Amino acid sequence: MSDNKPQSTFKDLGLSESTLKVLDSIGYETPSPIQEQCISHLLNGNDVIGQAQTGTGKTAAFALPLLDKIDLNINAPQLLILAPTRELAIQVSEAVQTYARGMKGFHVLPIYGGQSYDVQLRPLKRGVHAVVGTPGRVMDHIKKGTLKLDNLQSFVLDEADEMLKMGFIDDIKWVMERIPEKRQIALFSATMPNVIKKVAEKFLNNPKIVKVKTKTETATTISQKYCLVGGLQQKLDALTRILEVTTFDAMIIFVRTKTLTVELSEKLSARGFSADAINGDIQQSQRERIINNYKKGKVDILIATDVAARGLDVPRISHVVNYDIPQDAESYVHRIGRTGRAGREGEAILFVSHRERRMLNTIERVTRQKIEPIELPSAKIINEKRIETFKKNITETINNKDLSVFEKLVSEFQQANEETSHIKIAAALALIAQGNEPLLLSENEPSFGRDQTQTQEKTIPTKADTLKGFPQIPMKRYKVEVGNNNNVKPGNILGAIANEADMDSEYIGSIQIFDNFSTVDLPDEMPDEVFKILQKTIVNGNRLNIVELTDKNNKATIGTRKKKRNHNKGKFARSGRNDRRGDKDDRRNGGRGRKPKFSRSRPKK
Ligand code: ADP
Ligand code: MG
Repeated sequence: MSDNKPQSTFKDLGLSESTLKVLDSIGYETPSPIQEQCISHLLNGNDVIGQAQTGTGKTAAFALPLLDKIDLNINAPQLLILAPTRELAIQVSEAVQTYARGMKGFHVLPIYGGQSYDVQLRPLKRGVHAVVGTPGRVMDHIKKGTLKLDNLQSFVLDEADEMLKMGFIDDIKWVMERIPEKRQIALFSATMPNVIKKVAEKFLNNPKIVKVKTKTETATTISQKYCLVGGLQQKLDALTRILEVTTFDAMIIFVRTKTLTVELSEKLSARGFSADAINGDIQQSQRERIINNYKKGKVDILIATDVAARGLDVPRISHVVNYDIPQDAESYVHRIGRTGRAGREGEAILFVSHRERRMLNTIERVTRQKIEPIELPSAKIINEKRIETFKKNITETINNKDLSVFEKLVSEFQQANEETSHIKIAAALALIAQGNEPLLLSENEPSFGRDQTQTQEKTIPTKADTLKGFPQIPMKRYKVEVGNNNNVKPGNILGAIANEADMDSEYIGSIQIFDNFSTVDLPDEMPDEVFKILQKTIVNGNRLNIVELTDKNNKATIGTRKKKRNHNKGKFARSGRNDRRGDKDDRRNGGRGRKPKFSRSRPKK
């Protein structure tokens, strides 16, 4: 929320006592920015245009004030909300029902295509106070005379730009031409295309315009990373590795096609992950079941196309994986908006192939945010994790399962084969249980990335080479955060260090370029000042963020992480910012007060 303005409360905004009680019971503590600004305007009877991204709390921004105006004695629709999809209509209707908990006898009805008219007719006849519907179906009901608008007080267009994209604009106008003259309108949209502006000009009366910038808010709650991968098999391997070492509540994975949602879900299930797919072909009833399972935690990974995931609001989503890169920056923003809902933390990982690097740049430009590269966890880290799990499973099975049948069989076997050790028997059983897939990955396999010969993670020696000219000067190996992915050549690093730190290039040792980082050998006793300068030095647009390459951060790739994290911690890399800071502090203590032994003024041999 806002950092310097005093935060207003729901009470300040003038909502009724009963609504305040409801908000308290559902645990909303303070209004979100869009709510803060829209609620009083709407309570005062103004029309409103609200512009904000998804996940900013728009539903409550219009529903709370407009519900407060409903007269429960009038048994007819007083509030009509149009939403672009069935999913959203249901979702908004559920939210409205929740917000109206304090209103005895209140009824809201979602109406959408695909559901039988009968189901919708009965409540309409009985009388409902609010209707949430998709444009086409609302139009049908108005035409049939089953939805009467005589008592309508307020009208809401939710996600107007989305409705425009889906081709509903004429339907919307048709409906708007039929609502009573004296009414209040709220129009919400993430973007404001011209057509929407025109609709607003035509139908809204002196609207108050509320615009909420969420870019920076997204930035603080969603940590965004990308990972270079090439080829289908590599993508699947990369995904599996990430899944193996990442702790997540729920993950949503975006792919380009319907077939891929199913394929990937099958592959992940086969690898033991709890995954399911949603796409446009899946029947509504089945879709609702899948999403429910996902919400409840019966399924942890959902693979979806953009269309199928539209409007999905599942607070437990902690990770978004863009398995296939989105078609444009806007879809990217929508996709990652599935996590980090309402101020929670979320993580987004984008898979990028070399050909897709331009799209990555576009996304960074449009979102005005840098997306940090990550390295995939190495085979070594995966293996450590698998061994840990293997051992944990044994302990858990011994503690929690009934072993009596097998104890008997194993003991019979042992008596019949006295020469076979217990270890051998146990190992044989483990092998049977493991099946054909080996437990451990080969740690010699090349890693991912452009130039596989250059990315043998396990073989980066941490020890520095000696200098050709000055073999007596002790050197240390450092890691800098630029590499092939930033199109960096050794000369760029050499030049930057020589210029920025005023270091004679003869004192700069071996430089090796890897995909996501490089190593450079520098004199051991580098003073703090120089180290600081090098941290901030920029090469090809990226900060060097130099750190000492110890065994610890040499292994550094994607590590397991705790569920509750600190915002500043590197979320995927073991060599998170905190570790780095640690290194720097060590250096600072060691280095303070020492004279540079390698400055230009130093006499040469
Ligand atoms: P939008 O329509 O802008 O995408 P929603 O209305 O669907 O956003 O709200 C997103 C999520 O934020 C929902 O889970 C909702 O319950 C929650 N939420 C909304 N307002 C608040 C609030 N003031 N405090 C806490 N959570 C909120
Ligand atoms: Mg919404």
